[in-house]
Amino acid sequence: MNEKIEKLINDKGLRLDGRKPEELRPIKIEVGVLSNADGSAYIQQGKNKILAAVYGPKELHPKHLALPDRTVLRCRYHMAPFSVQERKSPAPSRREIELSKVIREALEPSLFLEYYPRTAIDIFIEVLQADGGTRCASITAASLALADAGIPMRDLVAACAAGKVDDTIVVDLMDAEDKKGTADVPVALMPNFNAITLLQMDGDLTMKEFEKAFNMALEGCRKIYTLQKEALKAKYLNVKEVEE
Ligand code: UDP
Repeated sequence: MNEKIEKLINDKGLRLDGRKPEELRPIKIEVGVLSNADGSAYIQQGKNKILAAVYGPKELHPKHLALPDRTVLRCRYHMAPFSVQERKSPAPSRREIELSKVIREALEPSLFLEYYPRTAIDIFIEVLQADGGTRCASITAASLALADAGIPMRDLVAACAAGKVDDTIVVDLMDAEDKKGTADVPVALMPNFNAITLLQMDGDLTMKEFEKAFNMALEGCRKIYTLQKEALKAKYLNVKEVEE
């Protein structure tokens, strides 16, 4: 289907879904959506639909994997077979193993791992529907699920990508832009520290283009951070209303 699309940016400078280059997709975030997990969050970012669930800190099995001075953070990013146009095998792919690792590494700096020696914290990410930028949306949701589990954190982690399509630098690429574009730069940020916890680049950019894409992604992270805080607040206001 995507092969038929020739121009990703039209004559008015707008993208396939009508967005301006610096515009994010519509984002809806909900915290505490699963009653059986210690913490959870759900994000819709454009057509992406992603659930994140957290268990822990809890006893780690097998015990020989436990660390004497800190908790072991484990992360599984998984795409449902029905999440993409062509059925995806439910078995973990190389891509999912890589994404599980980079997502874990993007979240780790935000946690006080040394608070919980000999334990584990598990993060499960289920992509129900994918449309580009799922690693970033997963980080955004997983960070909220960790906060929802009551795990002390230095800051939330917000993530957003930017890239280049048809010679234009754009933020928050959807699948068609990701596949047909020339570059994709996913970034994760702890906004209060101005600390980057993920920076990848796929494709080719000049130094100038990279700088523009990087700054656009950072701006996207800051906008998403505001939405994360609103979603967390909404959950606790809701709890208060139920109790009253
Ligand atoms: N995708 C797909 N089939 C797969 C894996 C990915 O159609 O088996 C699509 C999906 O929409 C995903 C996009 O390709 O969001 C881009 O994947 P990438 O590896 O760049 O990671 P992401 O942008 O999701 O972080």
